[in-house]
Amino acid sequence: MADDANRAEKIRCDACPVMCYIAEGRAGACDRYANRAGELVRLDALTIVERTIEAGKATVPFLGNDATWDGDLVLAKRPFLTAIGAGTTYPDYKPAPFIVSQDVDGVDMITVVTEGIFSYCGVKVKIDTDRHIGEERAIVRANGEAVGHVMTAEYGSKMLSLGGVDHLTGGSKTEGRETCNALLCLCNKEAVELTVDDGAALVVQAGRPPIINGQVEQLMRVGCGSATIGMFAMQWQPHVDEVIVVDDHITGVLTEHEAGKQLGMRPAGIRVRGRRSTPGRYFQVAEPGTGWGGTDIEDPLVLISKIDPKAAWPGLRLLMVSTTGEQWAYFLLDDDLVPQPAPLTPALEASVTRIAENCEPALCSVLFMGGAGGSLRSGVTENPVGLTKSVKAALTAVTCGGAETYVWPGGGITVMVDVLNMPENAFGYVPTPALVAPIEFTMTRQDYGALGGHVEHIRSIGGVLEENVRTLKSRG
Ligand code: SF4
Repeated sequence: MADDANRAEKIRCDACPVMCYIAEGRAGACDRYANRAGELVRLDALTIVERTIEAGKATVPFLGNDATWDGDLVLAKRPFLTAIGAGTTYPDYKPAPFIVSQDVDGVDMITVVTEGIFSYCGVKVKIDTDRHIGEERAIVRANGEAVGHVMTAEYGSKMLSLGGVDHLTGGSKTEGRETCNALLCLCNKEAVELTVDDGAALVVQAGRPPIINGQVEQLMRVGCGSATIGMFAMQWQPHVDEVIVVDDHITGVLTEHEAGKQLGMRPAGIRVRGRRSTPGRYFQVAEPGTGWGGTDIEDPLVLISKIDPKAAWPGLRLLMVSTTGEQWAYFLLDDDLVPQPAPLTPALEASVTRIAENCEPALCSVLFMGGAGGSLRSGVTENPVGLTKSVKAALTAVTCGGAETYVWPGGGITVMVDVLNMPENAFGYVPTPALVAPIEFTMTRQDYGALGGHVEHIRSIGGVLEENVRTLKSRG
């Protein structure tokens, strides 16, 4: 009885399956809804992105001045209503919180906005580094809980796949909570500490350099060892007799490499460890690590397995360099053909500097990926598959917080978006656990009607703008 009386003073939020009872002056479990004087209110203001072109910012015209409407559904110069702060449609039988019409160059456009509750979601993280962070498929943890795994590396970057329904709901409660928290922080552009089983400790934040085992990564490699030789062979040839570019993927040896041969370089007789792939290109010269070129090497000379006295000669000039130009060493062979350290010549110093100059800053990129092909569609249309078909036919544009998305081919509406393009704090969560992400669908009124949209719930943008909205400036 006491419990019932207590509950009676509270109001019930029905915006997600948790169905919180919220006392006066308090917020629900997700901190997004609160009880203000007996009324359920949304704590984040509805957000409008003003697509004004800021003075002085360069833009590239897509079409000439005489061009007609280009079919761009979203990126016009107009206030764009995002789903941030819009609220959800749960339990999904009702129309989306905002279905607004707006005149865009004489075309009546409809934008349907809702905050989706995504159980099937995660992030793909791209970490620009050569350093070994862990084996492919190794488990990635946050606060000791498994939240994802290492994926196949990309060119110059290591990749993580974090989140997903198995970690959110398929494991223990703690695993789900930690997964949801890591995803939320990453999507809201905050730093997250992660560890990889038998690998590195990482600090990852969208748009910031990765921190690997406490060391801030500065540069993304210019290319693999073979590519580096291709790029710089001509600059090295007049100044050096051999260059070994140390790289965990492909270590390059200039005079054996096709580039060295075509430049008429004399074979230097310096053999490196590892498995020869093609001339001058070696795999597996060392173990992966956080040393030179993503190997475990700290002393580059350990790479040399043999110096052939029939080919090498005293005074031979040898440059060893990593693929970022951050590590280098220069040697002259003595009379016994033993490499002796020597000061780098100005010409070679310039070439090493140029490698580093050609490396881009190392960054972390975070792409949110979620499936909007389920019941969320009911907030847009009575005939859910109609929305899917309209998206696939490119009649409906899908954005997240006003940012362009990539919609995967195949079934459903599986979207991917760079969180850096989204406004601050665009993501929320519910304790089920799941991530709450803004999603907007934009199309012409005619197409909205054709896909079975809730046309009777359309409101004009002007009316919505009079409400308590947060306005963000964005480049057009
Ligand atoms: S957790 Fe769910 S039910 Fe509770 S306040 Fe948040 S949206 Fe409402």
